[in-house]
Amino acid sequence: MIQDHIIEKILEATNIEDVVSEYIPALKKEGNRYKCCCPMHSERTPSFVVTPSRNMYYCFGCHKGGNAITFLTDTQGMSFPEAVKHLANKHGITIEEDKSPRSAEEISQEKRRLAMLSINKEVNEFFKEQLLADNEHARFALDYAIKRWGKKYVEQEEIGYAPGNRAILNWAKDKGISTDLLLELGLIVRGKKGNALYDFYFDRLIIPIKSQTNQVLGFTARNFSGEKPKYLNSKDSEIFHKDEIIFGINQAFRAAAKDELFYLVEGAPDVMRLQSIGIYNAIAPLGSAWSVKQFEKLRRFNPTLCFIPDIDKPKAGDLFGAGINAVIKAGIIAHNAGFRVIVKEIDSEEEVDPDSYIHSPSILEEIPKEDFIFWYAEKLLIGKQTASERAEVMRTIAKHLAVVQDKELLKILIRRLAKLFGTSPSMLENATNEAVKGNVEKKSSSGGRMLDQELYQKFGFYERNHCYFALGKRITNSNGQTLLLSLYFTLKTN
Ligand SMILES: [Zn+2]
Repeated sequence: MIQDHIIEKILEATNIEDVVSEYIPALKKEGNRYKCCCPMHSERTPSFVVTPSRNMYYCFGCHKGGNAITFLTDTQGMSFPEAVKHLANKHGITIEEDKSPRSAEEISQEKRRLAMLSINKEVNEFFKEQLLADNEHARFALDYAIKRWGKKYVEQEEIGYAPGNRAILNWAKDKGISTDLLLELGLIVRGKKGNALYDFYFDRLIIPIKSQTNQVLGFTARNFSGEKPKYLNSKDSEIFHKDEIIFGINQAFRAAAKDELFYLVEGAPDVMRLQSIGIYNAIAPLGSAWSVKQFEKLRRFNPTLCFIPDIDKPKAGDLFGAGINAVIKAGIIAHNAGFRVIVKEIDSEEEVDPDSYIHSPSILEEIPKEDFIFWYAEKLLIGKQTASERAEVMRTIAKHLAVVQDKELLKILIRRLAKLFGTSPSMLENATNEAVKGNVEKKSSSGGRMLDQELYQKFGFYERNHCYFALGKRITNSNGQTLLLSLYFTLKTN
C-alpha cells in the first residue's frame, strides 16, 4: 500500500489543470476555471470543469468528479498505483516500497511490454542506418522515399529500410536480444518446417507506427516489387493492437488540438501524403475500417471529423465504390457518437485517393466540404423517385438528426435538408421530434437502459436497433442469454 501522506504530498505538488491539459489539449481557460468536453461521456458542449483553486474537476453532464489521480484512473486507464507513481515521478517524489506490490505476473508483463517498446525503438535506429547504407538497394529505397515524401518528412518520421536476408537476426545477435521477443513483435518468423528463423521484412521501406507520445508500436513496410501485400503491417502483440492504432496520431494530435479538426483518410499512404505537404492533422486506421475504440480516443480533442473518401469504381450492382461505402458506415457511427462530422468528396470520374490527388494544401482547400448528414441524405436519395421512397429516406435522416445536440446546427441542417427533400422545414422538424420522442420512449420502456457509452465501457459493446455490436466477441448477459456479437462494419484491407 502507498501511504496516505505520500498521496497527499503528490496531490499537493500536482496542478490538476496541467494533468488534464496534457491529455486534453482542447482544455480552455474561462475565468478562474477551465473547460472542455467530458472525456467520460459523449457531448458537444463542454461541461467538464476544472477548478484550480480546489485542485479538482467535475462534469456537470455525467456528474463524475475527482482529483488528478482519479482523472488518470478514470480517463486514461491507469490503475491506482500506476497513476500515483506517474504523478510521483513527475514531481520527483519517492514512494516508499509497496507492502503489497503488484503480482509477480503483472510485474513481468509490464517488464515485457517495456522491453518490446525498447526493441522497436532500437531496431528502428538500425532500419534508419540501413536506409543510408552504401549499396544499390538502400540507395533505391532512399531515393524512392525522398521523391515521394521529401527529405524533411523522411527524417522526421524516421523512415528506414529493411534489407532482409538475416539483417535483423544478425543485428539482434550482436545486441544479445532474445529471439523470443523478436518473434512476439513479428520482426522475425519461424519457417514452416523445423526451427529455421527468418527476417519478416525483406527489401522493404520501413515506416514506424508511433503512439501519441512517439513510442514505436510497430511498423508498416512497403515493398518495391509490386507483389502483394504492398504494405506489410506488424502483427498484433501486447503493444500493437491493430484495431486501436491511429496512424499519424503522433503528428496529428498537436495540429488537431489547435484546429479542433482531424482529416480521416483511408490508409497510411494518404496520411503520409497529407502530412508531408504540411497537413499534419491527417489520420487513418491501419488497413481496416474505423472502430468505436478509435473514435473514443479522438474524443478528448473535441474535434470535427472530416472524412476524405477514396474514389473507387463501384462493384457490379453497387451504387457507390468501397471508399464512399466505408465513409457512410464510419460517418454514421461518428455522428451518432456525438462528433461533428463533415465530408470532403473529391469530384472525379477516375479512381483517386487523397495520396494520388492532394498534392498541395490549396488542392485540399478546393475540395468542397459538406455536413455528413446532408452528404449522406444526398447519397440515399440517388435513384429514389417515388414520394414513398423519399419519405422513407427522410425518416432515416430524421433519426440521425434526433441525436444532434447543437440547436443552431440542427436548425440549419433542417432548413437545408427540407429543401433537398422538397418538403417544408416544419415537416422535417416534426419528423425529427418524433424520432427524439421515439428515442426517449425506447429508453424509458426498457427501464432506464444503459447508454451506449456505459455499455461500451462496461462490456465492450454497443446496442443499435436491438442488435449488439462489438469487436468479434461472443458474450453472455446477466440473464444468461448469449449475445452474438459481430464486427460493427466490414473490414476493408488495402
Ligand atoms: Zn461527463
